[in-house]
Amino acid sequence: MKTKFIALLLLLTLIGQLGTAQNRLKTKPEAFCGYVSQRGNATILGMCDKLDKCEIKYFIKNGTDDVIDENAAIAQAFDAWAAVIDRKFTKTNYEAEADITFQWGGTVGSSAVGQTAPCAVPIPIYFSSTVKWVTSYFPITVGTYNVFRIAIHEIGHALGLDHSDSINSIMYHSPTDNNSLSDQDISAVRILHGANTGPITGPKYLCVGSTATYSRGQFGFWNSTGGVTINSSKTEQMVSVTATSPVPGKLSTSQCLSFDVFTSINQPGAILGTSQICPGEGDGYFTINAVPSAASYVWSASDPSVVLHPNASGTTCTATGITKTFTLSVKAKNPCGISPATTKTVTVKKTYGPPCNGEDLVSTGKEMLMDINSETLEATIYPNPTTENLNLNIQETDQHVSVSIYNAVNGAKLLTKEVSGGKSVLDVTSLPKGNYIMIIENDKNITRKKFSRN
Ligand SMILES: [Zn+2]
Repeated sequence: MKTKFIALLLLLTLIGQLGTAQNRLKTKPEAFCGYVSQRGNATILGMCDKLDKCEIKYFIKNGTDDVIDENAAIAQAFDAWAAVIDRKFTKTNYEAEADITFQWGGTVGSSAVGQTAPCAVPIPIYFSSTVKWVTSYFPITVGTYNVFRIAIHEIGHALGLDHSDSINSIMYHSPTDNNSLSDQDISAVRILHGANTGPITGPKYLCVGSTATYSRGQFGFWNSTGGVTINSSKTEQMVSVTATSPVPGKLSTSQCLSFDVFTSINQPGAILGTSQICPGEGDGYFTINAVPSAASYVWSASDPSVVLHPNASGTTCTATGITKTFTLSVKAKNPCGISPATTKTVTVKKTYGPPCNGEDLVSTGKEMLMDINSETLEATIYPNPTTENLNLNIQETDQHVSVSIYNAVNGAKLLTKEVSGGKSVLDVTSLPKGNYIMIIENDKNITRKKFSRN
């Protein structure tokens, strides 16, 4: 008895759902750029020129408070179409570049759940802001609408499809529980947008003069640009390709799918990174932009005592054991050859000066690593600490002695002055209170002094 009661209840619920579906069928208005729905076989409409391109961008203007993952559901709906046609769908954050926009609310008809105006620019897809949205698939509750299911249907309109009378079609004229495209949907949309021919496979490197075979998942036309030429029929699933010139080539089977073929090797661009190393510091860090045609990189240093440690990809390299100025070079390599070298001179400073980094010379003791043996200039400075003036007594007869003052913490050069050998006075009132390093040097000799201003 109880079982019968439950069965009756289920039947009544089902009838209720059917009734709701009938209402949706009758009252759901949709605009098709002037076309009247043919109501059958996913009738193919004229595709708008706006969408006749590989990459179609969409912009989501707002969302619904009913769920938190509506954007993911929309992306999933695009993925379903992208899997079968020659198109890529990309979400953009700039409405101005969008081909399709999504909006909850707006001009959607009062009883419509979703609405699309296929030939507008951009194509707007509206979702009702008065119904309840869900992203879960179960349980199916009357009066709630799944974002993915409505989105995949409305995107079908944006791609140029009309309604279908087939209950299995995503383009069925009323909301269904379908989650995937029917064979009818796929064949119809492919007439408008071409089939996704599947990835091209074959050698990435085809050196000038050699020939190889390339294939793809489905039939379609082949095209080539750059340094590669197709030998055999362009409509076969497999083609023979020859590299005819040392220019990167491209094989394509559709608007969206292409395959880069490298016929030669390009030289790396400039080496970025350390240019100057302080005495006592031995490491340098270098990087290059990846060379598209490269399979690997060869780094070398003119000084054999420098040890190079490239990373796995070879686009960055650490150098250790640097003691003197050297030339760093890098070449790109692939099966077609090795490129000319790109070089960089890395200078090890011979004289005192600001450090190459922002460390505190005094507190880290790095200044002590400087080449003390070359400290050949005799000089005294006083008083230390000072408040206004520093008296210099330089044991040189030279008329041109350079005095430079550096911030001891960050190495910034703050003051440079030419003085004569012997006694002179330096006004340091322009310096803030703190610790300083003074470098006194002429053509032959140099010394370093520390002082403080307070
Ligand atoms: Zn529709």
